[in-house]
Amino acid sequence: MSEITLGILGGGQLGSMLSVAAKKLKVKTIIYSDDKEAPAQNFCDEFLHAKYNDKNRIYEFAKKVNIITYEFENIPFETLNELNKLKAVLPKPSVNRLIQHRLAEKDFINKLNISTTRYVHIKNKEDLLPLDDFLPGILKTTTLGYDGKGQYPINNIQEIDSLNIDFNKDYILEKLIKLKKEISIIITRFSNNKYEIYEPIENTHENQILRHSKIPAEINEKLINKSKEWAIMIAEELKYIGTLCIEFFIDRNDNLYVNEIAPRVHNSGHLTINAYNVSQFENHVRAVCSLEQVEIKKISNAEMINLIGNQIIPYRENLKLNDNQFFFDYLKKEIKKNRKMGHLTILK
Ligand code: ADP
Ligand code: MG
Repeated sequence: MSEITLGILGGGQLGSMLSVAAKKLKVKTIIYSDDKEAPAQNFCDEFLHAKYNDKNRIYEFAKKVNIITYEFENIPFETLNELNKLKAVLPKPSVNRLIQHRLAEKDFINKLNISTTRYVHIKNKEDLLPLDDFLPGILKTTTLGYDGKGQYPINNIQEIDSLNIDFNKDYILEKLIKLKKEISIIITRFSNNKYEIYEPIENTHENQILRHSKIPAEINEKLINKSKEWAIMIAEELKYIGTLCIEFFIDRNDNLYVNEIAPRVHNSGHLTINAYNVSQFENHVRAVCSLEQVEIKKISNAEMINLIGNQIIPYRENLKLNDNQFFFDYLKKEIKKNRKMGHLTILK
């Protein structure tokens, strides 16, 4: 066993897959989650259940681990900051604070001369009324959104009252892009300023939830290079350590835009578990624990299908799989509509 114990904040499927990758590297994992049923407790070495603002438990957690990382971005900044005084938190808490806030995130990207969709800050209903040229658009909460939660598609100004928008929250309004494709880039940056970057992954969403990912992405060489170049610029500017995902839009004229940055491992990168010699999860653990960097190599083309809600049932009932198919059950107790329950990766 190596001497390293990695603390992971958050106990969802990403925490599970990080734990599995850590085990392979002989790194011990302790998961801290505010969810008693957190599925990652089935995969880690030790599980702590407490609120993210519970100072005593946070302190107890920090004492047990050597390094701390997180598997979802909505951990309170205060928690990350407090922990960082006790043990190194990677990626840095300041990165998370920036990316937790959609407006700050988009401003940051534009400052690098990287394109995003057009957007404006919305603080109340009146801000929306003169904004016809941003419609059709999507209103998104500036904080705590995921899987399309906290988002309102708006076609016209007349529609606003019927949408029951909670104006106690802050939003951005984004002009809708006529999407041709969505892609993502996963990149892992190491403490010696070196990085490993995966090829672009092509993603399909349904109801704003990721449904399907595949490599290779069917895009031209120019878009492959530009998306990688932008991902490297963003990782460098953030002085990021660990695995990072950049989501992109491609419009019908082959213009590229950054949609958002996820300061963590990402659903679209699940296929790297089977399609590469080193997965996004293993790379994250290697980077934050300062382990050896291994050059990544693709083993196979692949596609990944998310199993959402009831779609998990036939797979749990021992559906027969071929040798090139890999089924992952996140072991979530309750099946809920729109809940990511597992995934299937098929090597091609
Ligand atoms: P989340 O944080 O929930 O992932 P996103 O901003 O990534 O939110 O939006 C989820 C999905 O909704 C995107 O992947 C895309 O399919 C669609 N979407 C969001 N914003 C736009 C936009 N401005 N134009 C077109 N499609 C969009
Ligand atoms: Mg997204």
